[in-house]
Amino acid sequence: MSMAYLNGDYLPLDECKVSVLDRGFIFGDAIYELIPVYNGEPFYLDAHLKRLFRSLEQTRINNPNTESGWKHIIARLIDTSGLEKLSVYLQVTRGVAKRDHAFPANTTPTVFGMTNPWPATNPNMYSKGLTAVTAQDMRWDRCDIKVTSLLANVMNKQQAVEHNADEAFLVRNGCVLEGSATNVFIVKDNKVMTAPKNNLILPGITRDVVVDILNENNIPLLEQAPTEAQLADADEVWITSSTKECAPVTIVDGKPVGEGQPGQLWAEVYGLYQQRK
Ligand code: PMP
Repeated sequence: MSMAYLNGDYLPLDECKVSVLDRGFIFGDAIYELIPVYNGEPFYLDAHLKRLFRSLEQTRINNPNTESGWKHIIARLIDTSGLEKLSVYLQVTRGVAKRDHAFPANTTPTVFGMTNPWPATNPNMYSKGLTAVTAQDMRWDRCDIKVTSLLANVMNKQQAVEHNADEAFLVRNGCVLEGSATNVFIVKDNKVMTAPKNNLILPGITRDVVVDILNENNIPLLEQAPTEAQLADADEVWITSSTKECAPVTIVDGKPVGEGQPGQLWAEVYGLYQQRK
């Protein structure tokens, strides 16, 4: 039977209960990680754990487990899920304390984990491509930390939904940084462009895999955030994330990207990505 994990116990998800004073609930004082799993094997597990550790370190939440402790929890969650293709979600909050903004002394972090079946995705995702709208990036300036306080991302994604689009592309100072839950790549004349890893984007693990594929295959890549004009003029647009993998976007702000079809370079990179699984 599928089990979730809460503070050392494995139990059914609906039996997991946390205090209303948990700082994750009160302040969004928490970080998370999401790991894709194929054939029962976590994909790029070490990279995900490294990012999890960095999120804890940057928010100064005590890391409650050793690396092997985390691996054990993840393996057990995958085992009980009975699924082959799934995602593992992990969350750590600063813990339960009287409501006060400053860090509480001696509080034990709350640790939660669950599995989810692979999400049902837009059936046209890889054949026709996805749609996106541009939106003003409303987030703070530490987008590099994978924090659960995602209200700005939630509101940006809702803008996309209300325009019947799959994703919102976040624009700051005229530059396209990433999506509400994805990284963004554009292609012009067989050259690829994506925003650099800095405080303004989430350093996606899938982004890293795609960058590796581009480098290994001598496909030119410029790590610079495309301007809105470059996005509008692109031959191809892709988004990457652990669950969307590398997906083509063929309509942005209601206008076709290039020929309005998934591009050739996307098909090549997508094929190489599948080989890594
Ligand atoms: N950017 C944002 C804002 C995200 O939320 C995500 C997914 N968590 C990504 C990019 C993609 O990251 P990954 O490839 O590690 O799933």
